[in-house]
Amino acid sequence: MKFERPDIFRPPSEWDSYFLPLTNGCSNNTCAFCALYGEKLQVREADDIKSEIDALALYGGTGIRLPAIPEIVYEIAQDWNGKRVFLQDGDALVYPFRQLREVLQYLNEKLPQVERIGCYATPQDILRRTPAELSELKGLKLSIFYTGVESGDDEVLTHIGKGVDRRRMAGAGRKAKEAGITLSVTVILGLGGIEGSEKHARETSGILTEIDPDYAGALTLTLVPGTPIYEQWERGTFHLISPFQSLEELKTIVENSIFTDCFLSSMHASNYLSVRGRLPQD
Ligand code: SF4
Repeated sequence: MKFERPDIFRPPSEWDSYFLPLTNGCSNNTCAFCALYGEKLQVREADDIKSEIDALALYGGTGIRLPAIPEIVYEIAQDWNGKRVFLQDGDALVYPFRQLREVLQYLNEKLPQVERIGCYATPQDILRRTPAELSELKGLKLSIFYTGVESGDDEVLTHIGKGVDRRRMAGAGRKAKEAGITLSVTVILGLGGIEGSEKHARETSGILTEIDPDYAGALTLTLVPGTPIYEQWERGTFHLISPFQSLEELKTIVENSIFTDCFLSSMHASNYLSVRGRLPQD
């Protein structure tokens, strides 16, 4: 089956990256709120990825475009400053380790000016890798993971089908950090609904404290048609919090999370109020 290039779905801070697909979809396609819910994972051949890296290196050095390479490659490359690469898709860290190492080595060799490589990583992906493997990836410049923590409340994590409980989620976050990998996590305001709002916020500040990430972003739950949470909301079994309640959740999280040095923000378009600051000092 021909690999289908995914649409670009990225963390805000990766706006100036080159987007290199390793997979399409997400292996953990059970999250009840996510647009990738139920999507099948496609894994791209390493040789196909290497051809794209070759084309990128050739274009960067000479401006030559190869007819066999999809136009999107050059559309992204023409505005790219050569410094950052983001590996698509929903959990690129699921890519088999040996091939991942091979692709990263190739990328380093052909594009030595690249300074940082990042990807989405599920807690399951991180837990599957040994500390030595994670350090090796870091050595190959895969130095930032973006992980959806979503909540620290086990009841919420079960309800949304995250596939891990709080203990494993926190363990995965700490494991990435111990390997020296920068960790950027997101949590979702409103995931506990109205009834679970306070507990969700309190427990989320608890898991953020346990993980102590480098970056933490708060999003507000957006209902995506076709997902289980959307259907529960339509049936009246899930009650969406109000904008004011989302601010209360954010306040609880900011007040109760204890960080060593974390840039916390709620700049995502889904939020009702944008705040950002480095904690604890700000
Ligand atoms: S792990 Fe992330 S990308 Fe995958 S389905 Fe869950 S929320 Fe979506």
